[in-house]
Amino acid sequence: MAAWAAETVDGAMAECSNLGIPRVRADRPHTMAKARRRRKPSTLEKAALSRHCPGVMLMRNTEHHCDILVVGGGVAGLAAAVVMADLGFEVACVDAMPPEPTKAPALDGRTTALLQGAVRALSACGVWADCETESAPLNVMRIIDENGRRANAPLTTVFDSADVGEGPFGFNVPNAVLRQALMRRLRELANAHHIAPAKLSEIRYESTSVRATLEDGRVLTAALSIGADGKGSPCREAAGIRARRWTYGQTAMAFSVAHTRPHGNTSTEFHRPNGPLVLVPLPGNRSSVVWVERERGAAAFMNLDEDAFLRALAARTRNVLGDLTKVGPRFSYPVGSLLADRYAAHRLALVGESAHALPPIGAQGLNLGITDVTTLAEVLTDAWRQGCDIGAEEVLRSYERRRRPDVVARVIAVDALNRAVMTRFPPVQAARHLGLSLLDRFTPLKTALMRQGMVPVGEMPKMMRGEAIRPVRRLAQPSGTTGIS
Ligand SMILES: Cc1cc2nc3c(=O)[nH]c(=O)nc-3n(C[C@H](O)[C@H](O)[C@H](O)COP(=O)(O)OP(=O)(O)OC[C@H]3O[C@@H](n4cnc5c(N)ncnc54)[C@H](O)[C@@H]3O)c2cc1C
Repeated sequence: MAAWAAETVDGAMAECSNLGIPRVRADRPHTMAKARRRRKPSTLEKAALSRHCPGVMLMRNTEHHCDILVVGGGVAGLAAAVVMADLGFEVACVDAMPPEPTKAPALDGRTTALLQGAVRALSACGVWADCETESAPLNVMRIIDENGRRANAPLTTVFDSADVGEGPFGFNVPNAVLRQALMRRLRELANAHHIAPAKLSEIRYESTSVRATLEDGRVLTAALSIGADGKGSPCREAAGIRARRWTYGQTAMAFSVAHTRPHGNTSTEFHRPNGPLVLVPLPGNRSSVVWVERERGAAAFMNLDEDAFLRALAARTRNVLGDLTKVGPRFSYPVGSLLADRYAAHRLALVGESAHALPPIGAQGLNLGITDVTTLAEVLTDAWRQGCDIGAEEVLRSYERRRRPDVVARVIAVDALNRAVMTRFPPVQAARHLGLSLLDRFTPLKTALMRQGMVPVGEMPKMMRGEAIRPVRRLAQPSGTTGIS
């Protein structure tokens, strides 16, 4: 049976005003119980019911309605679609890129160091089990500072997760593996529809719904849109939300390497004047590498043949992994930061890089994106239960209030760290060395910093704490057939 046919009705209804959120739609029935019993099935629902399958082919020049439209099917968008559908919302996720047919080993060369909270959230929605065997735990983080006078006698600071005592800091997973796991779960969810490749051409935020037109003429309407459409976010632009963007004249090269010495589940971050170079464990004697250089230098390294590239890398990694024997495909990314002025507007919530982007140092980017998604899930399920319109500005403001302090703090901290690593200004270098040596000697401070790095500023979302959120509707059993059209 399809998800909406098995819809449940929550018992106790609280007034939205308990949350400080006024009822938004005057035409809303007195209780959500009534509202949901009376609610006509959406076009997506009808189509799926008539076909007795979860997959829905969206016809051109027709209009389809769902609860939540996710624009962007990168890792943040897929995570948003899975989490919201897993909670019973009717979700459509539109992405301009085609879904990859196979588990491409190096789709974009990146891996993501996911902190424990993000791993808990992905476990809760049935995604993490597929990533486990292809990811490596991050037990120890080591910083080797070789800037300024430290070039020949670098200062090493070690952060051991055993000092915090809650298992590893997190796990390093290839983005390709994470994407496949998210897409597999999305296909399982009868109330989720992945529409790709399909490009959004126009989005309008109207009083009672959001209306999106795809380039091929299909129209989707929803109570809420989630903008997970990356740094250039068309959703953000259409809502008139400004974003501050800045760059550092750096390029990040991302790839994986095989090596002769075991990494011991230790991630090593070299702080060098041109930018950080980070080695992050993968299963076996393999590591993923993010090597940041000034733009021109990076272009020259990217053009080297494999042997020369490995020699250049070996010269910069102090033999910590022994001999480097093989390098995977290399990808490069401009390094920059982005901070949206607002994270939500009427019928739009931003998640992932449409709201914030940071240099690849300190493994914050997608972890922030997962915190966005799980916070939004909590806000939306609360609003739904209390009879509120999930796309209303007042609901979304509470999402923004919860996310903004954390995001601003992390963007500022990572920006400052990246600049401090790059600086050639001796007083700043000296201050950084002093800070690192103090940290190394003063364990309580180091432990506090490690804890701080792992949890968001403010309240940690329930899913990231390992607590369940009650779904808004009961889910249909997975059918195993595809929901991708
Ligand atoms: C080298 C490197 C290493 C990193 N390492 C880490 C790490 O260790 N830990 C960590 O937490 N983070 C890390 N990050 C950050 C992390 O990779 C990003 O935060 C994450 O990939 C961003 O995902 P996203 O889904 O927000 O954006 P994107 O991946 O940019 O996805 C946006 C999606 O929107 C779609 N889209 C755009 N416009 C349209 C349209 N008009 N219609 C339809 N679809 C559209 C695009 O097709 C795309 O699929 C790293 C980043 C880099 C560059």
